[in-house]
Amino acid sequence: MASPVTSAPPDIADNLRHVHDRIANAAIAAGRQPEEITLVAVSKTKPVEAVRAALRAGQRVFGENRVQEAQGKFPPLRTDHQFTLHLIGGLQTNKARDAVRIADVIETLDRPKLADAIAAAMQREGRSPTLLVEVNVGNEEQKSGVSRDNADGFIDECKGRFGRQLVGLMCVPPLDEDPRPHFTWLADRAAKHRLSVLSMGMSADFEAAIACGATWVRVGTAIFGAR
Ligand SMILES: *Cc1c(COP(=O)(O)O)cnc(C)c1O
Repeated sequence: MASPVTSAPPDIADNLRHVHDRIANAAIAAGRQPEEITLVAVSKTKPVEAVRAALRAGQRVFGENRVQEAQGKFPPLRTDHQFTLHLIGGLQTNKARDAVRIADVIETLDRPKLADAIAAAMQREGRSPTLLVEVNVGNEEQKSGVSRDNADGFIDECKGRFGRQLVGLMCVPPLDEDPRPHFTWLADRAAKHRLSVLSMGMSADFEAAIACGATWVRVGTAIFGAR
């Protein structure tokens, strides 16, 4: 076996370059600057070696779905690396404290009880991660996110409570639909609430999301391979 220090799977670096090129092209096609868009590399289910390979390739922003998995992978890397960790999966209230402890960004604030738990955890931990409200844009039963109908009220509530710590909105549109109307709807909500961050777009649709105004794209498969 090759040494673990030098055996970066070369495809991760290549994939990252390719995704960055696609982001830049999509931005330019939309009359935007490539620098407006941040690539969140989603490493869920992938081993810490894959994260290390991405770090070596210069990637500094990562996303994980599950608090427990993120806890195992990321805190040990902090000793040697600078990066920001986003939690992008639906969050159970009883995981709020662990989430606040390890995350720089929590993208999935979606209900008052979770807002309570995060606020309490921030006090106890003395840590204030950046927050996004997740909207269940397709009103899908099994998905996390505040419903479209309740989005405005909940966003106002979170702005009042968290102030400038709340920076934007996030969504995962229904898999089997054209995502663009959902992206556009979310972009309109963000503009109305004067929130600057729009986290939308994954491997299959990040170019469409950029055309609709995404500022953060969350890409897993196109960087780390199929799960
Ligand atoms: C897994 C996941 C992603 C990345 O999905 P890919 O299709 O692998 O790019 C993005 N956002 C969320 C919320 C996810 O759960």
